[in-house]
Amino acid sequence: MIRRMADRLGHLGHSSLQRDQLDTLQPLGSPTSSQSISSSHLSQSSYDHRGSISTQATSVSDWSTDKRGAFSLESDMDMIQEEERPVRPKLVRRPRGVYRLSDFIIQRTLGTGSFGRVHLVRSKHNLRFYAIKVLNKERVVKMKQVEHTNNEQRMLECVQHPFIINLWGYFQDTANLYMVMDFVPGGELFTLLRRSNRFPDPVAKFYAAEVALALNHLHGLGIIYRDLKPENVLLNADGHIKVADFGFAKAVDTTTWTLCGTPDYLAPEVIGQQRYNKSVDWYALGILVYEMLFGLPPFHQTEQNHLRLYDRIQAGPSKVAFPVAAFSEHAKDFIMKLMEGDPSKRYGNMRHGAADVFAHPWFREVDWMRLEAREITAPYLPRITGDGDASAFDKYPEDDVSSTYGLLTPDLNGALFPDFEYTATP
Ligand code: AMP
Repeated sequence: MIRRMADRLGHLGHSSLQRDQLDTLQPLGSPTSSQSISSSHLSQSSYDHRGSISTQATSVSDWSTDKRGAFSLESDMDMIQEEERPVRPKLVRRPRGVYRLSDFIIQRTLGTGSFGRVHLVRSKHNLRFYAIKVLNKERVVKMKQVEHTNNEQRMLECVQHPFIINLWGYFQDTANLYMVMDFVPGGELFTLLRRSNRFPDPVAKFYAAEVALALNHLHGLGIIYRDLKPENVLLNADGHIKVADFGFAKAVDTTTWTLCGTPDYLAPEVIGQQRYNKSVDWYALGILVYEMLFGLPPFHQTEQNHLRLYDRIQAGPSKVAFPVAAFSEHAKDFIMKLMEGDPSKRYGNMRHGAADVFAHPWFREVDWMRLEAREITAPYLPRITGDGDASAFDKYPEDDVSSTYGLLTPDLNGALFPDFEYTATP
């Protein structure tokens, strides 16, 4: 039992699958339904990062600078009713370091978001590499993301798990907020998946199992993650995952009802403006497993009309095709149990909680203890040439933006982010 998972994963090579092997992975066979598996069906937009949405955005233009693939929110804004209660996490803060911008040398951009960027940086003191997320306070305020930004820092500060990004510290200056994290060099699961077209069953199972452990840990702390998608699952140098981007994570005692997440991954109750709980993360895991095995999410459509997408999500998974070439019976059953439209009947949210997920036959060969201890060899080992190698990440125009960091600017919004200390010495 203990070895079986590793052995199965090992079918791709003795211990790990290298990037060039994965690049050449072919689709598994002919589809049996109208949903073709062929890469020709992958529209250009399906290759792009999908922007996250939140009802706390104020206008379409606010969202136009989101990651590639972001969409107009206007139609969605019509159905907004927002009620974010203040976060009162009963969570224990971890000790953190005191940092300032001058402790680091900025190397390059790793990713961009609506209100700032993530940079690869190098510490002047220990010479180690880190990732710093820089958020422009004015933009955060304009887009009504103050609460979400404070949540991100507060949730990450309390979380420590092998499959979740580590936050070392955070601070602000007059213009920006800064979050210092581990640099995760293997790039996004999204990039690997798009390159590979889709994953063989054992590979998808490996990543899904690690994500399930991460979600279970968060839920145990009373945190809903709310933005699971391959773009937010990073790969460490050893091939194990690190869930990143806690922009929508929230400590919730019972239920909440903000419409936020990524359209393809939204649970029907979120779209339906009902109150919802952590089960939206299990629903999203079902979508993620489908996307890993098929190459596209189940309700994917090429046009940018999200109302049609939402109609399909609310209609449920009964019409979703599961080509036998991509989905084993167990995989299909697992996905269907997570995509259950009635949250009270959804796996992960019933009497036995996450135990139902872990005990599902699709995961039969998983040794959860060894997996959490990172003793199972990952199916793909990122090709990293050395510390600070960020070649797994897309290149972004640098725009000299980092030269504006640390400058003295008018500061109207600092008090909105009370946990972020002013550590800079101007
Ligand atoms: P986020 O705004 O948190 O979604 O980050 C934007 C992008 O930056 C992510 O999709 C990753 O590609 C990259 N990124 C974020 N955090 C890290 C990290 N700790 N290490 C490496 N890359 C990261």
